[in-house]
Amino acid sequence: MIKAILTDIEGTVSSISFVKDVLFPYSKEKMANFVRKNQDNPEVQKVLEEVRKIEGENLTDEEVVEVLKRWIDEDRKIAPLKDIQGLIWKEGFETGELKAPLYEDAYRKLKEWKEKYPIYVYSSGSVQAQKLFFSHTNYGNILDWFSGHFDTKIGNKKESESYRKIAKEIGLNPEEILFLSDNPDEIIASTSAKMKAIRIVRPNDAKYIKNFPYKQIKNFDEIVEV
Ligand SMILES: [Mg+2]
Repeated sequence: MIKAILTDIEGTVSSISFVKDVLFPYSKEKMANFVRKNQDNPEVQKVLEEVRKIEGENLTDEEVVEVLKRWIDEDRKIAPLKDIQGLIWKEGFETGELKAPLYEDAYRKLKEWKEKYPIYVYSSGSVQAQKLFFSHTNYGNILDWFSGHFDTKIGNKKESESYRKIAKEIGLNPEEILFLSDNPDEIIASTSAKMKAIRIVRPNDAKYIKNFPYKQIKNFDEIVEV
């Protein structure tokens, strides 16, 4: 019997393209202004310092901004870039310029489930980013629908050990947890840890896999009972 829900974000409750087509261009567009406006913010100063350590101590602020924008284009997973993007997005969400787009069916189902089950989130986005996301959705602030958040600090999403650890943290047996994700490797890892799992296949984000041994659905409406 299912006693808790564990859900992924990107490709599951929200589109993958939001990050690629909205968040990344937004951080690039705002970068120069944001750095100028927040020169005195110690967090921003730290980012500028780290960039200089990597790309050259003599860079002007303008040149550092150009480096950061280039890293966005190159999709670099590098700490100072992640940090400054986090700050820019935080401001964007807080001013209402950015809204996290939830799929409507996901919103409705989560709303129904929160009355019956504790719901947890497991995403490669940091716990801090997850909280920002659910506090500023196109349906308002739904952060309090969730009982807890996990990110890659608990482990890689494609390793079954991570799901065992999550079950332990939640305080349930893995088989009492239903995991939802668009990623086939994550579905396999979670079921290897004995969780129940359903793969969400959003038409814009993913494709059905033939002979995939686990349930695949195109939206949350297809889950009538868990
Ligand atoms: Mg995903």
